[in-house]
Amino acid sequence: MNRQKSFIDEKPTLYIVATPIGNLTELTPRAIEVLREVDVIAAEDTRNTRKLLSHFDIHTKLIAHHQYNENESAQGLLQLLEEGNQVALVSDAGYPLISDPGQCVTQLVIEAGYAVVPISGANAMLNALVASGLPTQSFLFYGFLKPKETMQIQELQKLKEYPHTLLFYEAPHRIQKTLQNMRSVLGDRNICLARELTKRYEEFIRGTISEVLEIIDKCKGEMVLVVEGKKLEDEAINDPDILMQKIADYIEAGLSSKEAIKKVAKEHGCSKNELYRQYHEQS
Ligand code: SAM
Repeated sequence: MNRQKSFIDEKPTLYIVATPIGNLTELTPRAIEVLREVDVIAAEDTRNTRKLLSHFDIHTKLIAHHQYNENESAQGLLQLLEEGNQVALVSDAGYPLISDPGQCVTQLVIEAGYAVVPISGANAMLNALVASGLPTQSFLFYGFLKPKETMQIQELQKLKEYPHTLLFYEAPHRIQKTLQNMRSVLGDRNICLARELTKRYEEFIRGTISEVLEIIDKCKGEMVLVVEGKKLEDEAINDPDILMQKIADYIEAGLSSKEAIKKVAKEHGCSKNELYRQYHEQS
């Protein structure tokens, strides 16, 4: 077991700091303060982070922590904590660890008994989800699908039955092929393609996969794909007894038979005339 009280314990800490995904005004005051006050910032790409730091007049020591030597580099960051340093981890954009390096060092630091504290900020997947218009109650963030077609199709087949919203990151040069694979494996579902989030050309393209495919060859920039989950079968549609019982319940609640039939047809997406016929056949 491991219990951490972030604002009470005074342990050396690894801060996981989210940085902007485009719009620089989205670096929070708390993130700026932490980046100024830690002893070292470990960055996925030091050149990229240096630009961000100089924009905010932050002069903290910067070291590299990228995915190519993540294990080795994680040991180095742990040693910095053991020596009593406070360390911040950043990636090129958004949250470290979210399709970005950081998992390995975070686990190592927790196992060694030091604190890991998140500093909130921008994240492409959540921005796309909340503006997609698709259900947000439950969702699965998948990250990047495999680029190789056969492997991508296998991954999509595993996701096919999932009934909640799916989220993917994708590169612009692969989006067309990925959407075609999705249409053939998942069917022509509703999607939202969220592009260039928080930037000047931010755009949301909402529609079926086929509709989006019609215009996608002109789309560039960074993108998140939000895909409707599998629609659950409405058992009532295939069971006339359930539908008749519902009509009877509405009539008992005070609706006329015509109103009750209309309401049940609308609720279950079935034909009003067919329901009307069934209702009068049985009564
Ligand atoms: N750590 C990041 C986060 O928290 O969102 C994600 C990093 S991942 C390496 C980069 C991918 O995130 C891009 O290929 C794109 O799919 C998505 N992404 C990042 N910034 C974006 C933006 N401004 N608009 C749309 N998608 C973005």
